[in-house]
Amino acid sequence: MRPRRSGKSLRESIVAMMSRLPVNRADAIDVGVLSYEREIRAMCEMNSCGRYGRSWNCPPQVGSIEELKAKCGVYRNGILFNTVSALEDSFDFEGMMAAGAALHGILAETDGILTREFGLDDYLLLGAGSCNACKTCAYPSPCRHPDKIHIPIEACGINVVRLAKKTGFLYNNGLNTVTYFGLLLF
Ligand code: SF4
Repeated sequence: MRPRRSGKSLRESIVAMMSRLPVNRADAIDVGVLSYEREIRAMCEMNSCGRYGRSWNCPPQVGSIEELKAKCGVYRNGILFNTVSALEDSFDFEGMMAAGAALHGILAETDGILTREFGLDDYLLLGAGSCNACKTCAYPSPCRHPDKIHIPIEACGINVVRLAKKTGFLYNNGLNTVTYFGLLLF
């Protein structure tokens, strides 16, 4: 049986574990700074990415902003992390896709470590962007891997720019880079 850890020691151990993954930075945050803004969720509804209503990890399938706020609000601990990836230039769409895929890989690896090594079975791991676990999403047929999906932070209405500012993270990490954020709540 795994030894039970206090909230602080568990937080520190998970931050240490995440810092060994290919992330730019991972740090514990005060979940009290999280705010849920209808305007941010409305950006999903504008469907500029074309994934609104087309993936099981995106709105509206993931629930209303109220439901997601309630889901997030259950947890008392948060760890924010980000990846910073180089782009050839600001139009490097392939580079952005590769950076998104790298974040999804980190999220999958984190799931495995949290359950295997930390014995965590009640947590919420939020990511960025539409799920890419399958070549083509099965939606509207049932999700092929519901255990692999991560709701985007913005789908919950969380303003990532504001969150980064409040927690001392850099949202923009320089010319010809793309930064993606993930958030673990437990
Ligand atoms: S796991 Fe596959 S079917 Fe499920 S949301 Fe992701 S891409 Fe779609």
